[in-house]
Amino acid sequence: LKLDNAMFQNNGPIISGNAKVVLERRYLRKNDQGDPIETPTDMFRRVAHHVAQAEMRYGGSETAAEMEAIFYSMMTEFRFLPNSPTLMNAGRRLGQLAACFVLPVEDSMEGIFDALKHAAIIHKSGGGTGFSFSRLRPKNSRVGTTGGVASGPVSFMKVFNTATEQVKQGGTRRGANMAILRVDHPDILEFIQCKEKDSDLNNFNISVGITDAFMDALKKGSDYDLIDPREKRITKKLSSIEVFDTLVYHAWKNGDPGIVFLDRINRDNPTPALGEIESTNPCGEQPLLPMESCNLGSVNLAKFVMEKEGAAVIDFEGLSQTIYHAIRFLDDVIDMSLYPIPEIERMVKGNRKIGLGVMGFADMLYQLEIPYNSEKGIETAETLMKFFQDTAHDASRALAETRGTFENFEQSVYKDREGCAYRNATTTTIAPTGTLSIIAGCSSGIEPLFALSFTRTIMDNDEMIEVNPVFEATARTRGFYSLELMKMIARKGGIQGLGNIPEDVKRVFVTAHDITPEWHVRMQAAFQKYTDNAVSKTVNLHRNAEVADVIKVYNLAYDLGCKGVTIYRDGSKDRQVLSVNKNE
Ligand code: ADP
Repeated sequence: LKLDNAMFQNNGPIISGNAKVVLERRYLRKNDQGDPIETPTDMFRRVAHHVAQAEMRYGGSETAAEMEAIFYSMMTEFRFLPNSPTLMNAGRRLGQLAACFVLPVEDSMEGIFDALKHAAIIHKSGGGTGFSFSRLRPKNSRVGTTGGVASGPVSFMKVFNTATEQVKQGGTRRGANMAILRVDHPDILEFIQCKEKDSDLNNFNISVGITDAFMDALKKGSDYDLIDPREKRITKKLSSIEVFDTLVYHAWKNGDPGIVFLDRINRDNPTPALGEIESTNPCGEQPLLPMESCNLGSVNLAKFVMEKEGAAVIDFEGLSQTIYHAIRFLDDVIDMSLYPIPEIERMVKGNRKIGLGVMGFADMLYQLEIPYNSEKGIETAETLMKFFQDTAHDASRALAETRGTFENFEQSVYKDREGCAYRNATTTTIAPTGTLSIIAGCSSGIEPLFALSFTRTIMDNDEMIEVNPVFEATARTRGFYSLELMKMIARKGGIQGLGNIPEDVKRVFVTAHDITPEWHVRMQAAFQKYTDNAVSKTVNLHRNAEVADVIKVYNLAYDLGCKGVTIYRDGSKDRQVLSVNKNE
């Protein structure tokens, strides 16, 4: 079959300066000297071609060619991007395409070092790993074979951290890990404080696995049981209030630990017969069974606003079409990925979990002229995500009609539910899209913008002001644009409190620090309501926020049905990737 070349000739994607740097550094194929030997257009063709090969087994070469062209267009038009490992590795030797893995850590030397070895192999391919260390016997318990004492979860985390540091990921990216410890593990207090005491754990995000029993104890102000995971016996009791206060204090101080609500996550486990969910991937958006992995993808909402009768509205039809194609793309990725170990391949092919989500949500709200921190903003999020989730489920069901349901379907909660004959055990996840959003040139995930304009230092210390395009267009049509003003905004980050900008514009163009923590949590909850997996979101707090503010955030996240929560108080970490000028 001859490919219709015209379908590929959209002149390639338009790539911003920043995206070009990112792509050249980590995504494009390179020769032995380290120089790129493909262009971004080549990269997207490589990815589209490789992923579409899965279609051969379902439809044949004609279908594969047709889907390849569709996949190429949706990526180069930045309507959809798959997670980084797919862009990096598709059609190349490593061939590992998923971003998220969870590995079991058994309570034995063999088990611990098996997990470490598997993690190293996964990191090499650009994937992130999550672990629950909850099965490990506590520090100072006896080791049967040697008569010595065990060193406990935190000391083993350091070993994992060091290994991660050394695996430079085949020149792609440094590894990212999540460590989870159940709140009822005897070493919980050491775990809560471990990152502060030890800069050796910088390749880990840590989260406390909160149980319903703990939340009940906390509501009553009572003690709760610590349980030795090996001997399954209560070792002692701790005050729920004290543990919670310690946890919150450390989160306030330096952002760690986050929390995940384990029982809630397990209530949404689609295949409880296959095991319990103990951990998520590094950024928290993807709960997985041990030995499971999941490939993610994100639809850029900024591309789905259209004009109707003079007003900006959501282009639901266009969105629906892209969701159908994206779900198919991600299902194809499962077939085309190479897996680091056979157990993972078995689990992934059994459940076929995928996680399609969104990015560019804040850009979309700007275009729709809806403030992020408003009832209308929350309503928009719910309407949008309900549509997104329903469509993603429809798309997965449609795939099942031709390709069959996932292998473990009969062991899943869907088997007796009408209209739930899906191809994939989960379909939706809201990822952080840290790099994808740079490539696509949109706001990340469902986060508000960090700044409306900022100064970028380019070669020879030349400074360039970059202004959010929607804001710039508004400033020009409303007649308040000036370079001076944009420079001032770059120093402040936002426009609240500036005299010469109309009130209605100020109301729409809010940035992360104009938004109170409550609205951050409510937005996360609005998206979680219609997401199979979880939602990655940072709740930003002002640098003067108090410990009590963090407590409020955690309680609200629990009450509103979030699956976890991560906070960040401005200035609380030494190294902060994004920051607005501190003097203003
Ligand atoms: P991207 O934009 O690069 O696709 P995201 O920021 O959306 O990635 O993160 C999604 C998931 O990808 C994370 O939760 C984690 O599992 C994995 N990931 C992100 N960054 C890294 C990294 N540096 N190393 C390993 N895995 C990562």
